[in-house]
Amino acid sequence: MRSALPEADLLIDANSCYSVSRAIEVGRMLEDHGFCHFEEPCPYWEFEKTKAVADALDIDVTGGEQDCHLTDWRRMIETRAVDIVQPDVMYVGGLSRTLRVCRMAEAAGLPVTPHCANLSMVTLFTMHLLRAIPNAGKYLEFSIEGPEYYPWQYGLFTDCPFVIEDGHAILGDAPGWGVEVAPDWLARSKYQSSK
Ligand SMILES: [Mg+2]
Repeated sequence: MRSALPEADLLIDANSCYSVSRAIEVGRMLEDHGFCHFEEPCPYWEFEKTKAVADALDIDVTGGEQDCHLTDWRRMIETRAVDIVQPDVMYVGGLSRTLRVCRMAEAAGLPVTPHCANLSMVTLFTMHLLRAIPNAGKYLEFSIEGPEYYPWQYGLFTDCPFVIEDGHAILGDAPGWGVEVAPDWLARSKYQSSK
């Protein structure tokens, strides 16, 4: 992998699948191959297992995409279960709550590399978040899933408010979220009321 992509940063996601001993074994192999980011090595709700892996390895152990309770975030950050926190703006419950997670991480000296799984509003929210915090991580998670996986994310905006150039996301300075949801996309949508 390293020889095939000598210039690339290598990040990997284990999606909660390893025991502590297996995660450490895999993590050592990843370190030997130049990876820099080992995401969710153990079942995400078992912070003490993730912490044991983070303590044992040099590679950055990361996580948090599944977590929405601020008490869980406090415990994860205070115990330093991860080296990098990965809140999802939508799963945590919006930008204000995500900022609370970011500030907890900032106080602990941890960077924030949010989880961001598709190209809808969550990507815009995440771009604005990363511009607003002092402890933004090095990466914007930017979906490469195609139309067979997320057919609804195409044609969502009247104009795409960002470009990706040389591996960097460039976002304009338009007010608000800097975007208009396309009227024809809304016209094709289903409406549901929860009252
Ligand atoms: Mg993930």
